[in-house]
Amino acid sequence: MTHHPSPATLLAHAAGRLPVAHGIVVRTHLALCAACRAEAALGAAIGGSLLEDLPPATLAADSLASVLGRLGSPLPPVAPARPVPTTVEQLATGRWWWIGPGMRLMPLMKRGADDARLDLIKVAPGRRLPGHGHAGMELTCVLRGAFGDETGEYRAGDVAEGEPGLEHEPMALPVGEDCVCLIATEGRLRAHGWLARLVQPLVGV
Ligand SMILES: [Zn+2]
Repeated sequence: MTHHPSPATLLAHAAGRLPVAHGIVVRTHLALCAACRAEAALGAAIGGSLLEDLPPATLAADSLASVLGRLGSPLPPVAPARPVPTTVEQLATGRWWWIGPGMRLMPLMKRGADDARLDLIKVAPGRRLPGHGHAGMELTCVLRGAFGDETGEYRAGDVAEGEPGLEHEPMALPVGEDCVCLIATEGRLRAHGWLARLVQPLVGV
């Protein structure tokens, strides 16, 4: 892996400030990348030490009694942590839609109140997506195969971070298998080509 989420994105994720779809992409990468897991843990520790430095606040007079009074009462049930899905098989829970020759899209989360959506996209090796621009931030995690665009080459586990305003024309690299990516997008895509303009209303991207 050579491309990781930026420190700002990891921090925003830790603080719960990313749209849900983008958080899922970061979580997928974290499950695959020990280096970023360590960085995220460090970020959480720094956040904790900042909290410790805050001036003490006055508690209600009965706080201690109230906490002590809860000792021994049963804990609320905690669901066992489920492993984060990281493979195409685990994540592909919908149906694939044809969006162009050698290209399929599986919507996973519709655009929500945060204006973000989550999709899987599958592109045959050597195929190029029609050029398009983004109104908001795009986060992509490669699950299989590889792709390249104006910003670099991305392989399994890598995260591509598209800043708002990015215009690109990603191509699945000819590595012998489809490129499958988990993509969180924010805001509408701005399609350049006729194909993109044709497909956009159908799929709603
Ligand atoms: Zn990483």
